[in-house]
Amino acid sequence: MSLLSVIVPCYNEEDAIPFFYKEICKTAEELKKEFADLECEFLFIDDGSVDKTLLKVKELREGDKRVHFVSFSRNFGKEAGIYAGLENCRGDYAVIMDADLQDPPSLLPDMYRALVREGYDSAATRRVTRKGEPPIRSFFARMFYRIINRLSKTEIVDGARDYRIMTRRMVDAILSMKEVNRFTKGIYGWIGFKTKWFEYENIERVAGETKWSFWKLLLYSIEGIVAFSTTPLAFAAMLGLFFTLIAFILIIFIVIKTLVYGDPTNGWPSMVCIITFIGGIQLFCMGVIGEYLAKAYMETKNRPIYISKEEE
Ligand code: UDP
Ligand code: MG
Repeated sequence: MSLLSVIVPCYNEEDAIPFFYKEICKTAEELKKEFADLECEFLFIDDGSVDKTLLKVKELREGDKRVHFVSFSRNFGKEAGIYAGLENCRGDYAVIMDADLQDPPSLLPDMYRALVREGYDSAATRRVTRKGEPPIRSFFARMFYRIINRLSKTEIVDGARDYRIMTRRMVDAILSMKEVNRFTKGIYGWIGFKTKWFEYENIERVAGETKWSFWKLLLYSIEGIVAFSTTPLAFAAMLGLFFTLIAFILIIFIVIKTLVYGDPTNGWPSMVCIITFIGGIQLFCMGVIGEYLAKAYMETKNRPIYISKEEE
């Protein structure tokens, strides 16, 4: 017997959950036909929803003991949801799936086969189009992946979704990374393991709305860069060095000029420009350092990644 845990982070998904449950049950049956010794469990992570999400999940549990849940004391974010799911699942295999059916369950049998038949440790998905997304958001997303892959040695795949199935070994590897500022896409790259990629076109959600505002995504992308690269720090140092060099050359130039041509006082406007420019760069670099300091500060507090209020 082996067990497959389906982990579903949910935040205000009361409308999507019934659709999702129907689909995942179909897929589970399909899997059961092909792999007679495979059982499934469905682990819903209620990420502090303020609607009837938890109630819906409890209703499902009444009729189906394969359904389990962990309910957070407040909204901790999807990353915390994923961590809680991996920590609380009992499966030999675990798959993370959105509740909105943007991660098609119909792909699951193929992904599972890649693990048991082809010897992969993990099968992951990426979307090849960003259809149905605002163009400006797609543009910034592309930029983000280009920048982070330049800055970080860890490979972060463009368009990778969180929809991924993995073996127990990989689950344990992820759980061993206890950082509070979690950026799962980077964590996958960092731990390694052999991954098979599946591609599909973007699918729009069945019900409800996206929980990601532009601002939230921007903060998340900074989190990703700070978590998986220290290059911005080196960049700040380099910038400092560069301007020191320029200042040095200018000093020599001015000293010689004064000695040769005398010293008529002028150049006040250019001075103001230079001071504000350098001032701006200094503040920027301090901001960069501050960002790392803030993350380090939060990590040293060693707070739990999530707090569960109820679980079954
Ligand atoms: N989600 C969550 N906590 C949050 C935000 C989202 O658990 O704070 C869940 C959400 O319920 C969904 C999944 O993460 O199952 C993906 O969220 P969403 O569909 O809003 O993101 P998108 O697909 O638009 O990137
Ligand atoms: Mg979605």
